[in-house]
Amino acid sequence: MDLDRYKSPSQRARVFSEKWVQSNLSCPACIHSLTKAPNNTKVRDFVCPICSDAFELKSKRGSFGPIVADGAYQSMVDIIRSGRAPHLVLLSYTSDYAVRDVIAIPNRFLIEEIVIPRPPLGEHCRRAGWQGCNLNVAMLPPDGKVAYVSNFEKRPAEDVRSEWNRTAFLDRLDSSSRGWLTLTMSLVRSIGKQEFCLRKR
Ligand SMILES: [Zn+2]
Repeated sequence: MDLDRYKSPSQRARVFSEKWVQSNLSCPACIHSLTKAPNNTKVRDFVCPICSDAFELKSKRGSFGPIVADGAYQSMVDIIRSGRAPHLVLLSYTSDYAVRDVIAIPNRFLIEEIVIPRPPLGEHCRRAGWQGCNLNVAMLPPDGKVAYVSNFEKRPAEDVRSEWNRTAFLDRLDSSSRGWLTLTMSLVRSIGKQEFCLRKR
């Protein structure tokens, strides 16, 4: 891939990660290859032509931590409430452009509880008053982070699909029920036991 003709590092990162997704990622639900959305489309970077599902790509040199930067706070809350949020794809790569980890977060796990507002930009800023947000992905259960690539190793598409479709029942719930259930799943998973009891001691 000829990245040298792109001068800015952010442009180079974008071209690299988009190309990688186009040639390596299939729709986790149906395994069809994803197509790039037209450049002027807001938020949605890739679309599955079979499911019509939309995917937003975030890429980072190094690793993603528990907090992932996102766009405007209110737009994120609105799109979650409307049930039309895209799935997120988090791609991390090394300084020599080797893909280390790729994780997909199904939109069924994008809940208001993980959206943290950032302070609005101060009056000296060009976009004064604009308020962004971060996503606290550490609050999600493991089921909400489906790995395509883990520590440089690509997983079989069938494994990704079965993991992705295992939580499809959440799609039938409204956003507030999904929020409650997702956080409960997260707590139950953190206990790490097959059986537990709610009795107070
Ligand atoms: Zn699909």
